[in-house]
Amino acid sequence: MDDLPPVGLGTMGIDDPNRVAAAIDAGYRHLDTASVYDNEAVVGEGIARADTPREELFVATKLWIDDLAPERVRPATEAALERLGLDSVDLLYVHRPRGDYKPAETLPEIDAVHDDGLTERVGVSNFLRGDLELARQHLDVDLFANQIELHPYWVEEATIADAREHDYAVVGYSPLANGDVFDDPVLQDIAADRDATVAQVAIAWCLERADAVIPKGTSRAHQRENLAAADLDLSGDDLARIDAIERENEVFPE
Ligand code: NAP
Repeated sequence: MDDLPPVGLGTMGIDDPNRVAAAIDAGYRHLDTASVYDNEAVVGEGIARADTPREELFVATKLWIDDLAPERVRPATEAALERLGLDSVDLLYVHRPRGDYKPAETLPEIDAVHDDGLTERVGVSNFLRGDLELARQHLDVDLFANQIELHPYWVEEATIADAREHDYAVVGYSPLANGDVFDDPVLQDIAADRDATVAQVAIAWCLERADAVIPKGTSRAHQRENLAAADLDLSGDDLARIDAIERENEVFPE
């Protein structure tokens, strides 16, 4: 997990390569896309326009649920790489355990694209404990990460516990609850105390539970602010106050 930069750029909805290039130039080294976001070409063009060599970047994409039939895995992975303009990605996720996903059939094909160097690592996303157990049975390569929704209004404790037990990374998505955190009085109060912003407080809280988070930031100001959240140390009391927020809001249910 040492090679996983803790604050990555979530790119869902970003359709301008210059926003991706700006993020890389601002210091982002972890980029998260997915075939279903329909912007792998945008992310690839952003990588090409940035000053940083590709080898210094950690690029992740995801295969959507209608590309998980065994005969679809390789062509879909190749098509994703073609759109990205890359020979391989650093991490290839199974986006959701739904649709054409069948662990015994899909995962050997994921192993095969990994063995052939199309991806350095294999991850899953939106997997719960039962899905993870089955994935371990059918994957030869060690699972690198589970990408799950994580923010002050949504924490899947049992899923995170599985990662700690089996030693793979948790990547938290939608750490700002897709923009829903900003009016929260507890987060606002802690942000004022710490001379930080609400976004930074939410991201720093997520990083106490996850190995990486991937806020989406389009403007340069949001991108810089979110990246700097990795340096914010919240106190035990701050963390406990956020843990105690009772509101629940799963932004991306099934
Ligand atoms: P998010 O990161 O929780 O929130 C993004 C929203 O907050 C955008 O409206 C953004 O506006 C705004 N924002 C960002 N930084 C801000 C700041 N510092 N101050 C004020 N507003 C700020 O939402 P998300 O896009 O749902 O999730 C992030 C990423 O997670 C996605 O892009 C995607 O890569 C990933 N994801 C994965 C899954 C999955 O199933 N694996 C599902 C959903 C999302 P601007 O864009 O204008 O900056």
